[in-house]
Amino acid sequence: MKALVLEEKMKLSLRDFPIEREEAMGPRDVRIKLHTVGICGSDVHYYTHGGAGIFQVKAPMILGHEASGIVVETGAEVTTLKAGDRVCMEPGIPDPNSRATRLGMYNVDPAVRFWATPPIHGVLRPTVVHPENFTFKLPDNVSFAEAAMVEPLAVGVHAATKAQVKPGDIALVIGAGPIGLVTALAAVAAGCARVFVSDVDETKLELAARLGPITPVNVAKQDLTAEILAATDGWGVEIVFECSGSPKAAAAVFDPLCPAGRVVFIGVQMHDIAYDVGKAMVREARVEHVFRYAHVFPRCVSMLSSGAIDVKPLITRKFEFADSVRAFEIAASAPKGEVKMQIELPQ
Ligand code: ZN
Repeated sequence: MKALVLEEKMKLSLRDFPIEREEAMGPRDVRIKLHTVGICGSDVHYYTHGGAGIFQVKAPMILGHEASGIVVETGAEVTTLKAGDRVCMEPGIPDPNSRATRLGMYNVDPAVRFWATPPIHGVLRPTVVHPENFTFKLPDNVSFAEAAMVEPLAVGVHAATKAQVKPGDIALVIGAGPIGLVTALAAVAAGCARVFVSDVDETKLELAARLGPITPVNVAKQDLTAEILAATDGWGVEIVFECSGSPKAAAAVFDPLCPAGRVVFIGVQMHDIAYDVGKAMVREARVEHVFRYAHVFPRCVSMLSSGAIDVKPLITRKFEFADSVRAFEIAASAPKGEVKMQIELPQ
């Protein structure tokens, strides 16, 4: 059984890994045969940097956390799933008895075990054992590729929920990467009348413009605040979603924001950012931060099934599992125009 293993920084191998023999099934667990796994920015970051913040890769680790597959075995007490069910999986498992979990905020449980976050292994491998409660059955009309997009989509849906989008709101999404685009889709589905998306990659902006009532702004050529103020009669947008992780963009989030607007920080901030509290104050801005998501996977699956959200245009490239080392080399080169690359496991 082969797995895609990050041995150390910049060294990946496709090799046998003894994890399956170690993984026991509990009564409320299911065993899943993986079908499709998306490559996330975090996987690429672990590959190129060997870690992120407090999470450092100290021992070989299997990558991948955006996944769909087929149930092949169920524990004795599993009631909602059976062998043969097509599913997607929520990759973070909290301690069910922790204080944060009991308060409903299981995503910020300090004990959460999240796939492909050291030292927890990811799922670029043939099978995985996972709790029934974090495994979601797919309707027939949701493909494995779309289902592997539920994980990043959940971030956007959680952010739109935190922002308390109201029908007719106008929003700005800074950054047209996968998270920026799923956030724009979630904002539109939540009721935004119009969403501006800013980036410097013209191909990604062209893609964004085809996803709905979305206005692209190329910040290499246009002044973002001036464009937004001109388009909103000088008022500004009700919501700014910061998805770029750029300190420069993050520092300017209040400039295009209307009075009493909301700002949601989503993009991972690798550097310290200084934002202008005075600008936030004079607007009585509400600032939110998100860490992954909680309670949104079933909503995402429903929206994919009903057509309220279409993630298919974001999947720009697919690789065979045997090519996964090359897939990561390509992802690490940050190719222009690519949004989501996915790996299909042999069935
Ligand atoms: Zn991800």
